[in-house]
Amino acid sequence: MTARPETTRYAPSPTGPLHLGHARTHLVAYLEARATGGRIVMRLEDLDRPRVRPGAEAEILRDHDYLGLDWDEGPLRQSERLGLYEAALARLLAAGLAYPCTCSRKEIAEAASAPHGDDGPPYPGTCRLGPKRPGAPAAHRFRMPEAPIAFEERAATAAPAHPSDFVLQRADGVFAYHLAVVVDDAASGVTLVVRGDDLLGSAPRHAALHRALGHEPPAFQHVPLVLGADGQRLAKRTGAPPIAALREAGVARETLLATLGRSLGLVDPGESAIDLPTLVDRRRARPLRYGVLESS
Ligand code: GLU
Ligand code: ZN
Repeated sequence: MTARPETTRYAPSPTGPLHLGHARTHLVAYLEARATGGRIVMRLEDLDRPRVRPGAEAEILRDHDYLGLDWDEGPLRQSERLGLYEAALARLLAAGLAYPCTCSRKEIAEAASAPHGDDGPPYPGTCRLGPKRPGAPAAHRFRMPEAPIAFEERAATAAPAHPSDFVLQRADGVFAYHLAVVVDDAASGVTLVVRGDDLLGSAPRHAALHRALGHEPPAFQHVPLVLGADGQRLAKRTGAPPIAALREAGVARETLLATLGRSLGLVDPGESAIDLPTLVDRRRARPLRYGVLESS
């Protein structure tokens, strides 16, 4: 059976350094595209301006270069695509699929960042029939359909909860992560979203939003982020090195790829170095098996 060619993406936020966990997720995005003869998009998710760190984008691109993880489109920057988000929001409002919301909540403040992990309390629907405080500055919210949202998931086994209405644009005009990611994935023809499983709860939102905008949703592959032998997320562990530190310490690309590939079941016992073409061949021959990530 030949798999369909997949368009995947790297979607880093230039808010800090890339860690081993991100590198593994991006390697999976690379392998799923290259093993199927597909393509990859590089998209920098820089909407949350106060959290963007000067220099982080250049470091992230250098890290991909070091790993050999190339791409076919981009780098795109969300901060340069606001017109697309504006147009999509206007369509949703015109169709009654989005509405103004004058509630002031912490969730609205945080909407520009991807909601890793806990989603916060569900929105009670206060402004569904009209803004609670007419004339006040309004955010815009997506009207979630009541029916369960079907989407294709290739890695995670848990089923996320049905989401409540979520923010598309804050009252100060900043577009939310959920709107930007869906508009961008559709514009680039992304067929497979590979990302950390702490974003699994966003998948029904994204699938519903794709449908509301008239697109077939992509498939999702939420890669486990619990990677260390101690059961902790690498980003949160003390001593999980940024990729830049390994690069600067002179660790060979093939050594790092062996560490990452071993945690995906693509490296055989005794192999301490492997190159990308070999990993692509192995991916064609085997399914991924997500295991712990140990630097050896
Ligand atoms: N930019 C998000 C992050 O850094 C990833 C969003 C996504 O892959 O959908 O966590
Ligand atoms: Zn409201």
